[in-house]
Amino acid sequence: MKNKQNQFQVSTQERYQLVDVTDRVEEIVQKAGIKDGQVLVFLPHSTAALLLTENEEGLKKDWLDVLKKLISGFDFRHNRIDDNADSHILSGLVGQARILPVEDGRIVRGTWQQILLAEFDGPRTRRVIISVIGS
Ligand code: ZN
Repeated sequence: MKNKQNQFQVSTQERYQLVDVTDRVEEIVQKAGIKDGQVLVFLPHSTAALLLTENEEGLKKDWLDVLKKLISGFDFRHNRIDDNADSHILSGLVGQARILPVEDGRIVRGTWQQILLAEFDGPRTRRVIISVIGS
């Protein structure tokens, strides 16, 4: 059993933004030298998240519309000290980590399953940690 860890950074430009990181995760997995196992994709952040969805411009806007509507209309207490309660809640709801299977050194995923970093409190620089485990 081997475990290879790596990471990369993503700079976002908007407060709410979806950024496709599939190619960068794939590259790390392919270079990890692990044929079969799993990959953990993790964000060490509490105001961003990871989504598996289709990278299509309309759908990305749809996602952000739905998510913003979900958390609208609340009188957030956290905003009295740090104006980003919505960002923390969306990050928790969508999730800060994903686990995907690795087969023949490649991530197993559907055609319309890209890995998107969801920024909810940008612009910021985000760290994406990749941990590949297997043999
Ligand atoms: Zn905060």
